[in-house]
Amino acid sequence: MSTVERVMEELQQVDVSGKRVAVQIPEGLKQYAGIVIDVLRAGGAEEVILFIDPNYGACDIRDSEAKRVGAEVLIHLGHSSFGKIIHEIPVIYVPITLDLDLQKIMGALREIKGRIALCSTVHYTKYIEKIRRALGDKIVVGKGTLAAIEGQVLGCDSGACSADADVNVVITDGIFHGILVKMQTGRKTFVLTPAGELIDVGPYVEDYLRQRETAKILAGRAKRVGVVIATKKGQINMVAARKIMGILGEKGVRADILACDYFLPEYVKGMPYDAYVFTGCPRVAISPLRRRWKYGA
Ligand code: SF4
Repeated sequence: MSTVERVMEELQQVDVSGKRVAVQIPEGLKQYAGIVIDVLRAGGAEEVILFIDPNYGACDIRDSEAKRVGAEVLIHLGHSSFGKIIHEIPVIYVPITLDLDLQKIMGALREIKGRIALCSTVHYTKYIEKIRRALGDKIVVGKGTLAAIEGQVLGCDSGACSADADVNVVITDGIFHGILVKMQTGRKTFVLTPAGELIDVGPYVEDYLRQRETAKILAGRAKRVGVVIATKKGQINMVAARKIMGILGEKGVRADILACDYFLPEYVKGMPYDAYVFTGCPRVAISPLRRRWKYGA
């Protein structure tokens, strides 16, 4: 089944009859925006309002904005629920399952020696139980604290790969999640693409750590630092920001707390800071490297 057929099938099951509906759509599905709106209208929605801001996770839930524009329900497409966020209006999460080559995936997993802690991004969690049944004790699957589904990994939650094992395997179509899983567990980690290709993320992690060390050395010379909090509901982290402010204060470094919804280097152009510490999504620190890598972060 194609991705657009899956999107349509999932949305047709959501009861929107007579409702004013707001929709959040992830970047990878924006090309189907028109179809999403058509399906919801055909389902009887009184009004459909589509948010076009970039969206990379359910940490960025726009229920407050949906309420403000008069929606009665928010449909969050492409992700499952995140942590313990309190919603201002009902939110329906519609994660989309994508195709993968199960034979090749099984073949690749059989090639790996030892016990595998297996996890995937939300698009592939439906396959995990099937794989576990087929490969038995070779596979262990855990559950994260922020991720809603057993076996589901997030860039900020590798709990699904925390069980005792020899190696981690993350089924996903980029390397971002694999990098974070390796950094958070310290274990050898492979990304397994939906086409069955195994990628050792070790060299990517080394590359990232080298860049991070350089950034830390440069930041160590900063006279004034911006400690940035992301205001997205699931990313806001005042505890971390205050802790960092305390550490910088003890070192005699002048620092200020800055807030933004979405962090881009051009937003801070001309500001009086020599370095920034970002306390939101870990993807922000990793993304600048993606141009150098064969697989996107
Ligand atoms: S990794 Fe980033 S985008 Fe994904 S859920 Fe966590 S904070 Fe959100």
